[in-house]
Amino acid sequence: MRVCKVVALLAVFAAPLLISSRAPAQKPAAPAMASATGAPNPQLNPQLLDDLVYANRFLADQGVLDGFGHVSVREDSNPARFLMSRSLAPALVTRKDILEYDLNGEAIDAEGRALFAERFIHAAIYRARPDVKAIVHSHSAAVIPFGVTGIGLRPIFHMSAFLGGGTPIFDIHDVAGDTNMLVNDNKLGDALAQVLGNHAVVLMRGHGSVDAGGSIPEVVFFAYYADVNARLQAQATALGATKFLTPGEAEKSAKNLTGQYGRAWDLWKEKVGKID
Ligand SMILES: [Zn+2]
Repeated sequence: MRVCKVVALLAVFAAPLLISSRAPAQKPAAPAMASATGAPNPQLNPQLLDDLVYANRFLADQGVLDGFGHVSVREDSNPARFLMSRSLAPALVTRKDILEYDLNGEAIDAEGRALFAERFIHAAIYRARPDVKAIVHSHSAAVIPFGVTGIGLRPIFHMSAFLGGGTPIFDIHDVAGDTNMLVNDNKLGDALAQVLGNHAVVLMRGHGSVDAGGSIPEVVFFAYYADVNARLQAQATALGATKFLTPGEAEKSAKNLTGQYGRAWDLWKEKVGKID
């Protein structure tokens, strides 16, 4: 009896180890949701999963994200769902940490895993903006001063032409008075999405910012260059009167940049290296 028990225990504990050792994975018979081992739904586009991992790792490496912040992508085969990691520091995200969320911000396959408190940022923007396919929320230090002074970001060079429409500022105090500053429900998410409007970036007073793009490479480009722009704008305005891109320049540059994301994205993935 005792031997049987030991064998049973070994089977339970050894199974995940065997699964994680890499023989080419046999595709399970298409379950609708994540398996008990935490593997993502095999019906998901593997490219989206990979790109989401690359985006998390790259933005963490660049200091745009730190122990906090998150990246999501709308599912290409089901626009009513999006993908995002379980609650985890972005530099540690792997494919198997990625969960599916509905547009109310609820994970359909969490299986007890902790979720980001601010997942409602993503859900609300996907609800409000059908054109948005990927979102970054960060607490980038360079950007914070522009949200608390009301100055906002303006395009200081062609690489940040997507800031041409300016950056609206979401002040959570205007909506909900004294809070813990987190957008941790759908009501606050809707208020944030409303302030974002059709812009690429919204600043959050005393908190951070959100970037909304049409793809993962685009939104990573926005998050990266919004951060660069913030540093350059602070330097330039400290030096003296600053001439930003005109609205016409911003429009033409932004149009030109949309064809250039692939070049940066290939480099950034290379910098990240191997992912798991
Ligand atoms: Zn936050």
